Amino acid sequence: MEDNEVIIIGGGPAGAALGGYLSKAGIKNLIIDGANHPRKHVGESLVMSTYRVFKDLDFLEVMESERFVRKYGASWHAPNGKEFAAPFDQIEQEGIPQYYTYHVDRARFDLLLLKQAENLGSRVYQGVHVKKVLFENGRASGVRVNIGGKEMNIPSKVVIDASGRATILGNQLRLKKKDTLFDQYAVHAWFTGVDRGDGPTRNYIHIYFLPIERGWVWQIPINEAITSMGVVADKKVFRASFSDLSAYFSSSMQTNPRLQAAMREAVQITPFTPEGDYSYSMEKFVGNHWMMVGDAARFVDPIFSSGVSVALYSAKFASEQIQQAFATGDFSEAALKPYEDKLRKGVEVWYEFIRLYYKLMPLFTHFTQSPQHRLDIMRLLQGEVFERDETKVLDAMREYIQKVEASDSHLFKGHLTAVPID
Ligand SMILES: Cc1cc2nc3c(=O)[nH]c(=O)nc-3n(C[C@H](O)[C@H](O)[C@H](O)COP(=O)(O)OP(=O)(O)OC[C@H]3O[C@@H](n4cnc5c(N)ncnc54)[C@H](O)[C@@H]3O)c2cc1C
Repeated sequence: MEDNEVIIIGGGPAGAALGGYLSKAGIKNLIIDGANHPRKHVGESLVMSTYRVFKDLDFLEVMESERFVRKYGASWHAPNGKEFAAPFDQIEQEGIPQYYTYHVDRARFDLLLLKQAENLGSRVYQGVHVKKVLFENGRASGVRVNIGGKEMNIPSKVVIDASGRATILGNQLRLKKKDTLFDQYAVHAWFTGVDRGDGPTRNYIHIYFLPIERGWVWQIPINEAITSMGVVADKKVFRASFSDLSAYFSSSMQTNPRLQAAMREAVQITPFTPEGDYSYSMEKFVGNHWMMVGDAARFVDPIFSSGVSVALYSAKFASEQIQQAFATGDFSEAALKPYEDKLRKGVEVWYEFIRLYYKLMPLFTHFTQSPQHRLDIMRLLQGEVFERDETKVLDAMREYIQKVEASDSHLFKGHLTAVPID
């Protein structure tokens, strides 16, 4: 018996949003999360494009009434102390009538979104670990779970992997391909007493470049008092510091003058959490009667705060594809493939942007200052990535880099890194 038309493994933003969309479309779904929410999670700064999904899911009212911190822009700090601010009110985004998005305490945000899915009609099991996806005759047919120490099978017509970086299905089917270019590692914690300034950029996300390759620090306001701080760098850099994360963190804070000033009175209030091995892609995102959404499908470096937006849009696209499958009765890999193509296109735009960024970091700040390219860069930063044809600025970045590579005397020559861009 397939009482659950769709089983969704994971109740993070991808799983909860998908449940919400399916429930709105009248498709019965069960979300199973191994954790009991609220549970802690990294990924606290959103991009503007998330607005559309919140609106679709009648969730904007919740975002406003919960008073999540409004994020009006992003600011980038070079090691020499120079600041480049990018306010969000410089471009119009179709269907987005506000010039801010949000920073969120993920424990609270994820719980609220999961509750919203429940309000819309999803069934939710929490504290229930999915052990594996079941297959019969070459198609996914349900999941095996552990409920209170007892194992049992739950059948369904479609299985969705929304398990985040646990990537349950990618591991089970051995589809996971580690990113060969980026092996980044992060350490983060919450602080009080961070000096965020008083001006209009006070509640922006602040990104501080560190004077090491692909090294940076995020500063994300969680509420008036609490600020999330995280250091990101190549894993090799961390390896040398594993034994003393605290010393590593503190010394990183000294390497950018603005950051040092911001942290002068800071008091740590949560333990350091490390996050590693996080860039990968699956060979495929769909199969017969199964799909992957959010981080379960693909994870790219978090420098542009893209993860939650990708998770939400993957849910939107997956729900459209699933509705079509129910309409036609065809749940085959071929029938579900257009979803994969659409999602891949968007994530690849983020990935291309990230590669070009890490290839020549001063180029990013140069383009954000350039009257010709500034607005196109802003569109990307605000999450408009699903139409590659509309992201010509990436071609312009690539051409610029090629010119620097070919020149002997270009000012940026010494900043080129080994990251390949083709
Ligand atoms: C260092 C770092 C910084 C980041 N910064 C940002 C940022 O600023 N902004 C941003 O948008 N994104 C950021 N991200 C990315 C963001 O964290 C993710 O993209 C986002 O959480 C993806 O949502 P998801 O629903 O796919 O997965 P998750 O949020 O991870 O949810 C997956 C859920 O699945 C459940 N689960 C896992 N395995 C099982 C199982 N076997 N059975 C049942 N349930 C299971 C888990 O309990 C979890 O609740 C960052 C990521 C990293 C690593």
